Amino acid sequence: MTSRFIPIHPQNDSPLLSLRSDIHTPARGILMDRLQRPLRDLRISVTDRCNFRCVYCMPSAVFDQNYPYLPHKDLLTFEEITRLARLLVAHGVTKIRLTGGEPLLRKNLDRLVGMLRQIDTPDGTPLDLTLTTNGALLAQKAQQLKDAGLNRVTVSLDALDDAVFKKMNDVDFSVSEVLNGIDVAHQIGLGPIKINMVVKAGMNEHQIIPMARHFKTSPHILRFIEYMDVGDSNGWQMDDVISSQQIIHQISQSSPDMQLVALEPNYRSETAQRWRYRDGGGEVGVISSVTQSFCRDCTRLRLSTEGKLYTCLFAGHGHEIRALLRGNADDADISNALAYVWQMRGDRYSELRGQQNSPTKKVEMSYIGG
Ligand code: SAM
Ligand code: SF4
Ligand code: SF4
Repeated sequence: MTSRFIPIHPQNDSPLLSLRSDIHTPARGILMDRLQRPLRDLRISVTDRCNFRCVYCMPSAVFDQNYPYLPHKDLLTFEEITRLARLLVAHGVTKIRLTGGEPLLRKNLDRLVGMLRQIDTPDGTPLDLTLTTNGALLAQKAQQLKDAGLNRVTVSLDALDDAVFKKMNDVDFSVSEVLNGIDVAHQIGLGPIKINMVVKAGMNEHQIIPMARHFKTSPHILRFIEYMDVGDSNGWQMDDVISSQQIIHQISQSSPDMQLVALEPNYRSETAQRWRYRDGGGEVGVISSVTQSFCRDCTRLRLSTEGKLYTCLFAGHGHEIRALLRGNADDADISNALAYVWQMRGDRYSELRGQQNSPTKKVEMSYIGG
């Protein structure tokens, strides 16, 4: 291997980080960051565009026709994404989630799924390949995604009441079409399906019980997500957050058949706390991103649509990797750069929320991927 210096460009105007590519980190399937957290999950954003304008994510006043979305030439190609994913899997990634923006807007996404499916893991266990979607195009695309090798989907749905849902997605999209997408995905075998509901005070907290009731008898797992201070455009304030504790309390108090019992996590880095209905009904999860941080078990790395690596959802800058892919770096150089990014990681934004200054400019959820 060469002993060149490989520049990794942080976003914004921060100085370049220089990487010694002669200090080689072998890909052994285990890579630890500075807080001894292994690299396990990769979230890949395949587009920064969306057909919804959820008030908590892409408010229409900001994400209008003048918003500077990425030009097509800046997007990583499927070949570039797959190359990075393969190198990251060799470093320990076992789960890949496609996200965005709305991932189903990316043309021929099933081709990318097929390419990712071909990646071998160090121990031969198949990759867990999943996708988060708003469900608008799910009925139409579920079969081709399944055929290409997708394991399962997570679908976002913030209300059962059409008026509330339309107010939240701000593009007049109706609940029935998302529910239809969920049904089609379920019939095809893209499960277990998780349903994500972001709860924002004053908008949809009265939908907690109807949503819980609706999904209680379904095979799907409903997860309530605390409204987060991600990005800079949603005008987040603490008063808009309904805590997971309040949500669990509200459901349990609503009627005798809705009482919840805590479950053990499936695995250590699971973001959701799991609950089940005492009467044997289905499972419910709460993601307490604001009120109870889970940074110490955070094993997620995010790849933006244009090829920047983010070691935290709340990061102010990413590490530019596209230049390496489009330059003459070989796999060993890139693998080494990826290892360096993870090994330098010390992020724990949620743990420190309120105790420190936020990065001057936080990256948007629609750009980095949820
Ligand atoms: N468009 C797809 C969707 O909505 O499922 C995928 C991308 S979206 C950014 C991923 C997840 O992030 C969604 O479940 C969404 O509800 C969640 N999300 C977006 N903004 C959020 C915020 N401010 N707080 C909490 N969750 C948020
Ligand atoms: Fe689009 Fe998903 Fe953000 Fe809603 S949450 S605006 S569907 S990216
Ligand atoms: Fe992970 Fe950052 Fe979220 Fe903490 S704040 S759980 S480090 S993404």
